Amino acid sequence: MEIIRTAEWMKQVSRQARAEGRLPGFVPTMGALHAGHASLVRAAQRDCSPVVVSIFVNPAQFGPGEDYARYPRSFEGDAAMLQSLGVEYLFAPEAAEMYPPGFSSYVEVEGLGARLEGRARPGHFRGVATVVLKLLEIVQPWRAYFGRKDAQQARIIQQFVRDFHLEAQIEVCPIVREEDGLALSSRNAYLSADDRRAATVLCRALGEARAAVEGGERNGFRLVAVMREALAKEPRAAADYVELVRADSFEPAAQLRGECYALLAVFFGGTRLLDNMLIAEKDEEFRCEL
Ligand code: AMP
Repeated sequence: MEIIRTAEWMKQVSRQARAEGRLPGFVPTMGALHAGHASLVRAAQRDCSPVVVSIFVNPAQFGPGEDYARYPRSFEGDAAMLQSLGVEYLFAPEAAEMYPPGFSSYVEVEGLGARLEGRARPGHFRGVATVVLKLLEIVQPWRAYFGRKDAQQARIIQQFVRDFHLEAQIEVCPIVREEDGLALSSRNAYLSADDRRAATVLCRALGEARAAVEGGERNGFRLVAVMREALAKEPRAAADYVELVRADSFEPAAQLRGECYALLAVFFGGTRLLDNMLIAEKDEEFRCEL
């Protein structure tokens, strides 16, 4: 595996691969890699070659007072994991390579970018969209792989890729969970043992919503109430938002129709965790995917 530090060399390598008729796949990450990231790498390896993974803790997507400085960093272990997965290129630029002095252009996705995570973390999606646009331009992948764990982020990326006529195909992959149901996240490392146990309430709440959907419930407000009730049983959990939204607009869904997401953002102490469930209509039935 070659570790690449500069945008110029990364572009050169990708250009060369394309000239050879290869179809590069790309998995952007912030490191502290886990089985969720590995699943994206494997998905990329099924369709693409070479596979490029980036590790870049993007300062532009952290608000003041957020965890940029203490975000878990484990470059050596991450590189070893990617090497053992058979990744060909690891793109790991320094912040100054991505944001040199004088950097002044940002991507703003209106509407979608202002709701939910966007409202809870002002500037977050502006930072995400900006860095992902830059990474897509540098790596020039045929396909890029994202996790449904960050469903709104994936939707925003699909939006600006369409708006800017970018060529990369955006693939959204399923959520990888621990055995007890907790969605894998680099931020799970912040949880105390008690909060780690308590955090299983996220997927329990989604499971209750699934049971309600399977029992015939179609009303968005009642599904939200079911999830809120489940969360309220765990005193360590403080809900930030609990929503049922349309998968295209991320606007509240009063009634299940087409594709929707049940979305949760919940604090455990100072740690804020996300989880979601996709609810998709098919042949007048609704299938829930945790
Ligand atoms: P991050 O390093 O947290 O920025 O995540 C990099 C990519 O991995 C994003 O596309 C995430 O949505 C995805 N990801 C994070 N956690 C999971 C998970 N548990 N299952 C699947 N994908 C994930």
